[in-house]
Amino acid sequence: MDCLFCKIAAGEIPSAKVYEDDRVLVFKDINPVAPVHLLAIPKEHIQSVDAVDASNCELVGYIFTVIAKVAKEQGLTNGYRVVSNIGADGGQSVPHLHFHILGGKELAWPAC
Ligand code: 5GP
Ligand code: ZN
Repeated sequence: MDCLFCKIAAGEIPSAKVYEDDRVLVFKDINPVAPVHLLAIPKEHIQSVDAVDASNCELVGYIFTVIAKVAKEQGLTNGYRVVSNIGADGGQSVPHLHFHILGGKELAWPAC
């Protein structure tokens, strides 16, 4: 499958990894919009939150345990934001489920 994040997960395209196990990869966003801007992805291809179902929801829940662990390791003790863009109106540019982890400063809200 011609998917950028599948290729990053497989190590075919390099990334700045901050966490990896057999199911999940967390790496630095190439175009950071906050002092800490990481992307957490399942290694298995899932298109977006819209494609989360009974077959993969345990994996998605597991990703959130990784996000919380990585956020602690990154020193985001004062809070952070997790964002997942979905589809064209949501601003999703890579069609492989990913969670932006944003922090390291007080973030503005709303973001629309
Ligand atoms: P989206 O726009 O789909 O919510 O987020 C995709 C994110 O992937 C963007 O923040 C973009 O900067 C990041 N990105 C796109 N291509 C690459 C890449 O090749 N490497 C890394 N590390 N990040 C990428
Ligand atoms: Zn993919």
